[in-house]
Amino acid sequence: MNRVGIGYDVHPLVEGRKLFLGGIELAHDKGLEGHSDADVLIHALADAILGAIGSGDIGQHFPNTDERWRGVSSLVFLREIRKMLDQRGAVLENVDVSLIAEAPKIGPHLAKMKTVLGEALGVTPDRVGLKATTNEKLGFAGRGEGIAAMAVACVTLPE
Ligand code: MG
Repeated sequence: MNRVGIGYDVHPLVEGRKLFLGGIELAHDKGLEGHSDADVLIHALADAILGAIGSGDIGQHFPNTDERWRGVSSLVFLREIRKMLDQRGAVLENVDVSLIAEAPKIGPHLAKMKTVLGEALGVTPDRVGLKATTNEKLGFAGRGEGIAAMAVACVTLPE
C-alpha cells in the first residue's frame, strides 16, 4: 500500500553558525540556528517520511531537549528513520523537496545533496527530488532572515 507524507520546516539565519543544507556544508556568511546542525532541508524531509508511515514528527523522535542531538548532523536523523522504515518492511519510493532560500546559490550543490541524502536513506539519487527557489525577496525568506523547506515522501508499506 502506498502512503504519502508532507513536511515543512523553517530555521532563522544567524551569524556565527555554519550553514548545513541537504547534508552538506555551504559557504555563507550566516548559518541556521537550531539544536542540531539545523539542516532545515533534512528536517522537512524527515517529517515527510515520518508522516508517510504515520509515526509522529522529528521533534517527537529527536527532541531539542535531548543532549544527544545537540550539534549533531541531521543526516543522523535520516539514518534513524531509515531503520524505522526497515523495521516496518517499508520501501521508500521517492521523496521530493523544495528549498526556499534567497542565498546562497543552491543549484550548483543539488547533485551532491541528492547523493548524500540518497546514501543516508538507502535509495538511489534518482529517487531524491530536490529543487531550490528564491522567495523573490518577499517575506522572511526573501529578506534572508531564514530558510524554509517543504517536502513530500512516498512509501510502500507491506499489506
Ligand atoms: Mg527544524
